[in-house]
Amino acid sequence: AVVGVMVSDDPAERRVPLVPDVARKLAGLGVQLVMQRGAAARAPYPEDDYPDVTWVDSAAEVAARADLLWVLGPPPDEVLATLRPGTVLVGLLQPYASAERIRTLQERQVTAFAMELLPRISRAQSMDVLSSQGAASGYQGALIAASLAPKFFPMLTYAAGTIRPARALVVGAGVAGLQAIATARRLGAIVEAYDVRPETREQIESLGAKFVDTGIMAAGTGGYARELTEGETAAQAAKLARAVAGSDVIVTTAAIPGRRAPVIVTAAMLAGMKPGSVVVDLAAETGGNVEGTVADQEVVIGGVRVAGPTHLPSRMPVHTSEMYAKNLLNFVAPFVRDGELSLDWQDEVLAGTALTHAGAVVNDRVRQALA
Ligand code: NAD
Repeated sequence: AVVGVMVSDDPAERRVPLVPDVARKLAGLGVQLVMQRGAAARAPYPEDDYPDVTWVDSAAEVAARADLLWVLGPPPDEVLATLRPGTVLVGLLQPYASAERIRTLQERQVTAFAMELLPRISRAQSMDVLSSQGAASGYQGALIAASLAPKFFPMLTYAAGTIRPARALVVGAGVAGLQAIATARRLGAIVEAYDVRPETREQIESLGAKFVDTGIMAAGTGGYARELTEGETAAQAAKLARAVAGSDVIVTTAAIPGRRAPVIVTAAMLAGMKPGSVVVDLAAETGGNVEGTVADQEVVIGGVRVAGPTHLPSRMPVHTSEMYAKNLLNFVAPFVRDGELSLDWQDEVLAGTALTHAGAVVNDRVRQALA
C-alpha cells in the first residue's frame, strides 16, 4: 500500500503530520511513502532526514497515488473531490465543522477516520491526538498568561521585601486544563481550578491546586461533559464570580465536543477583577469561554486583557509533530498487514473513530449533529 502524507495549506500551521523517526517505523511496516514537499519550511525536519520517500509537489499528487492519506487537518475540498473510492483518510478531520465536506467523503466513498472521534478508553491512549495536542495547548496557555501578566507567578524574595505569588484560575480541567494547572504551578502560582465532571476534583487536587466547588456537576457521555441548562449556567456564574474576582490570571479551556464552547466568564465577572488582570481563552477558536473574546486578538474588557490565541500546538511544532505522528502510527499500525491495509471493523477503536465508510456516515454522534 502507498501512504500519502499531506502538509497543511494553512499558513499559520507549523506542525507536520509525519516526522522522520516515525516515517522510518511506518516504512518498516512495508508500505511505500509519498510525501508532499514543504514540510521543512514548517517544523524543522529536513527532507534528507526522512527515509526512502517519494517527494511530490502538491496535495493533489499525493492524493492521486495514495491508498491511505495521512494528514493533519482536512485536505482541501478540491482534492477530496478527486479521491478514489476506498481511499482511507486519517487525521484531525474536524467532523463537526462542515456538512458539505462529509457529503463529499460519502460521495467519494472514502473510509475516513477522524481522530477527534477516537474512543477515550485506556487501550487507545497512545493514539489520542486530542490529548497530546491538548497538553501542548494547556502548557502554552499558562506560558502566555505568565508573559502577559503584569506580575510574577512565583513568590519572590528580594532585598526590599517579598512579592506575593500570583493567583491563577483554570476553568475546564480536561487534558489542556490539567496541563495549564501543572505549568502554572511549576511557575509558582497559587492555582484554583474548576470543571463540571466530578472526577476532576481529585485530578485538580493531585496537581496541588484547589478545586472550586460550585455544586454544579454535568457528566455527559463518552467521558465528556454535557451542556449546562440555563438554570445551571446562572448558578455556576454566581458561585464562580468570587473565584474570578480573586484571580490575577485566568486560563479557560472548557469545551463540549461538536458544540460552541460554553460561555462561562461573563463581562460582568471580568469587571469584578483587579485592574491589570489577564485572561487567556483557549476556547477562542470555538467561540470562547469568555464573553467578548476575539480569536487571535487581545482585547481589553472591563480593564482586563483577554487574549484568544489559536493554533497553540503549532507554536511548538518539533514536539507536537512528533507526538501527532506517533499517535497516528499507533492507530494505523494495527491495520497494516504485510504492507497492505486490512481494516478490522470488529475493533472498537477503529470502528469508533470512523466518520464515513462505503458512502455512509458511520458515527452516531456526527449523524445526530448533521440531522
Ligand atoms: P474537552 O476538550 O472536550 O473539554 C475540556 C474540559 O471542559 C472538560 O474537562 C470538560 O469537562 C470541561 N467543561 C465543559 N463544560 C464546562 C463547563 N460548563 N464548566 C466547566 N468545565 C466545563 O475535554 P478533553 O480534555 O478532551 O477530555 C475529555 C475527557 O476525556 C476527559 O474526561 C478526559 O479525562 C478524558 N480522557 C480520557 C482518556 C483515556 O484514555 N482514558 C484520555 C484522554 C482524555
